[in-house]
Amino acid sequence: MKKWLIALLSVLLLTCKSSDEGLSSQPAIEFSCSPQDFNYTEQAGCDGQIYPDPVSSPYVLPYAVGEAFKTGLVNCSFSYHASGQPDQYAFDFDMPEGTPFTAARAGKVRWVIDGASSTGGGAGNYLLIDHGDNTFGYYLHSPQNGISITVGQEVEQGDVLGITGRSGLAGYPHLHFIVVKGQPDYPYESVPVSFKNAIPSDVVLKTAVTYTACNH
Ligand SMILES: [Zn+2]
Repeated sequence: MKKWLIALLSVLLLTCKSSDEGLSSQPAIEFSCSPQDFNYTEQAGCDGQIYPDPVSSPYVLPYAVGEAFKTGLVNCSFSYHASGQPDQYAFDFDMPEGTPFTAARAGKVRWVIDGASSTGGGAGNYLLIDHGDNTFGYYLHSPQNGISITVGQEVEQGDVLGITGRSGLAGYPHLHFIVVKGQPDYPYESVPVSFKNAIPSDVVLKTAVTYTACNH
């Protein structure tokens, strides 16, 4: 009787184990885009600028693969993004408060400011990544203590850098992303960038369009 019970339990345990293994051996679900999803047509850029070819761009969207967010202000639009402003080549991604954002490009963390109020004005909370080729990536508007990397750290493309918020000059939660060149002090010179993994595949991201980050 006892042996029979042990045998039954063993069978049950083995069954559970094998089904667990079956589950864990399934490949991770990836959000995949095929090459034909990327069909670039010529687009007029901000201020007549020729934008870099997205196919060879070192930048990906600053959020996780499979995620999709709508753009707010884009290049040469309004306010701080207006033509002639230092931030004319900035992109706003309308990401809800607390959404993780990721490195658009690898580099070394140069500045982290995250002690400012989550809702105050001014510069707010932000970080700066040195790409090593005289360009720098800015990520703005995190809440207080909302940045998860430290100065001097090397980050890889796609690494989580922090969470989004609305600190600084932000009326609502979003990520303000901009690449500048030469030196990072304001007023800096921003540069046009394209993203190699954005769907729909626009060379120059448009306003109020939801862009999905692909593993391309
Ligand atoms: Zn902005």
